[in-house]
Amino acid sequence: MAGLSDVIEFLNNHESFFIASHINPDGDTLGSALALAFALERLGKKSTVYDLDGVPETYAFLPGAERVISGDLPKNIGATPLMLIDCNAPVRAGLEGIAFTHACVIDHHVTETDFGSVRWIDTTSPATGLMIYDLIKALNINITASIAVNIYTAIVIDTGTFRFPNTNPQSLRAAAELVEHGAKPGDIAQQLYQSWSQERFSLLIHSLSSVELHGAVAFTVLSSETFRQTGTSPSDTENFVNFPLTISDVKVSALMREVDQNDWRVSLRSKGTVDVSGAASKFGGGGHVNAAGCTMHGPLEEVKLSLLSALKELTGLA
Ligand code: AMP
Ligand code: MN
Ligand code: MN
Repeated sequence: MAGLSDVIEFLNNHESFFIASHINPDGDTLGSALALAFALERLGKKSTVYDLDGVPETYAFLPGAERVISGDLPKNIGATPLMLIDCNAPVRAGLEGIAFTHACVIDHHVTETDFGSVRWIDTTSPATGLMIYDLIKALNINITASIAVNIYTAIVIDTGTFRFPNTNPQSLRAAAELVEHGAKPGDIAQQLYQSWSQERFSLLIHSLSSVELHGAVAFTVLSSETFRQTGTSPSDTENFVNFPLTISDVKVSALMREVDQNDWRVSLRSKGTVDVSGAASKFGGGGHVNAAGCTMHGPLEEVKLSLLSALKELTGLA
């Protein structure tokens, strides 16, 4: 794998790294970044893990979560070799405008930029975590329990716990080995899916009651007023977008969260071969066939109309 050997060379050439995960972090970006940090430690190298938005409560159980720094960037960070994880554009990690002397990208998104002198982008990989697993194997690093839990979580999140169409033999084989090395599927599933606050559950009730069906497309809308009323924030909505897909006739689900007045953070999910990445790209975002996102601006009704028409046109749904 050309990209993989380039990444190994990049790691060999430097001693200290700035590992950046993407904004609105999920289990794949955080688990991958932390597993990489532990792996580098085993090689005697130093790293800082950064996420602009910090670690959401759901992921506080990840080994090493406490070492993630957030918010303002360290001074002169551009001089430290960058490892950009689970995204491939600096803006996705809040790093736009910083000139990095050395940058390496590890990602699996279909929407690509040309950022980074070393780029390993495998759009066939179900999770960046699986790429980090391959990297760790190629480097002959022992998989510790900390590494296992982080990579297992990364794979589980991006495959919908082995339910999404991207689940492949490699992800299942890797998962088996990670379990042998200390990842406990029951404990991790409990952390991810059975540890909600009551506030978050109440937000889900609001979310489900807002669902509108437009043929095969389901819309869910959460306003900033709803977040205020329930004492929650947009980061509490992870996975909500999947619920409307439980309806047989729904092929696309769109979740809109108001992050600022008339600023809507949109998550798109689809079933099978229905591709939502094109609609997300149309509005300046991106992602994968079955999971993509973008930010839209404007009054709710206008944004909904243009999203609905883009979804119908670009997914081929009637
Ligand atoms: P989300 O709905 O935020 O969970 O995102 C779904 C998928 O699309 C994830 O893999 C994201 O990394 C990706 N994605 C979301 N927003 C963007 C964006 N603005 N640009 C590129 N990829 C995105
Ligand atoms: Mn991600
Ligand atoms: Mn991912």
